[in-house]
Amino acid sequence: MTIKHHLSDKLLLAYSAGTLPEAFSLVAAAHLSLCDECRAQAAALDSVGGVMLDRCEAVAMENDSFAATMARIKSSLDMAPVAVPPSDDAAILPRPLRDYIGGDLDAVRWRPAGGGVRQAILPTSRRASARLLHIPAGMAVPDHGHRGTELTLVLHGAFRDQTDRFGRGDVEVADQSLKHTPVADIGEDCICLAATDAPLRFSGLLPRIAQPFLRI
Ligand code: ZN
Ligand code: ZN
Repeated sequence: MTIKHHLSDKLLLAYSAGTLPEAFSLVAAAHLSLCDECRAQAAALDSVGGVMLDRCEAVAMENDSFAATMARIKSSLDMAPVAVPPSDDAAILPRPLRDYIGGDLDAVRWRPAGGGVRQAILPTSRRASARLLHIPAGMAVPDHGHRGTELTLVLHGAFRDQTDRFGRGDVEVADQSLKHTPVADIGEDCICLAATDAPLRFSGLLPRIAQPFLRI
C-alpha cells in the first residue's frame, strides 16, 4: 500500500497536543495506524509538541517559523516509540476504528444516504461529526463545498475528485476553498471514514433537503 495523501503537519501537531475534536482525532488515529510516515512524525511531535506550543504563544512568529520549526524537528529527533500501533491484519477497518465500533465491517450498522450511498454515523463529541461512508463502485457523493474542514480517509477501494485519486490509507483534507464531487472507482466499492466540523454546502436541491436527516 502506497499512501500519497497525508495529514498536514498542523493536524498532526493538534492531534499530538490533544486539541482536535474527537471525530478528527479518530480519522488521525486511523490514518496513523496505516501510515508509517505520519506515525513517525506524530511520535516526534509527541515528545516536543507541548514545549513548542508554549514557545509559539510567547513570541511573535516569522511567517516561515512554523515550517522552519517542523524542519528542525524532522532533522534532529530520533524517532520515539509510537502511540498508535500499525494495522496488522486483513481487517478493512484500522484498529483504532475497530476498537471504537466494536468490530470490523460486519459490526457497522449502515443506513441509506441516497443515491445508493450508505452511511453509519459514529458517536463522537458534538464539535465535529464522523461517519463511515459506503459508496458503490462508480457512484458519486453529490457535488458539494465545505463550510469548515472535512477529513476523508479511504479504507477500501478508491475515489477520485477534482483534485486527485485517493486510495486506501490516503486522507483528503478539504476546506472552504474546495468544491468537489467524489466518485468511487469503477469495479470496486469505496469505504471511507469522513469527519466534518460544519455542514457541507450541497449544490443540488435533493441533497439539501435530505441534509438535516443525514446530519451531514
Ligand atoms: Zn500519512
Ligand atoms: Zn467534501
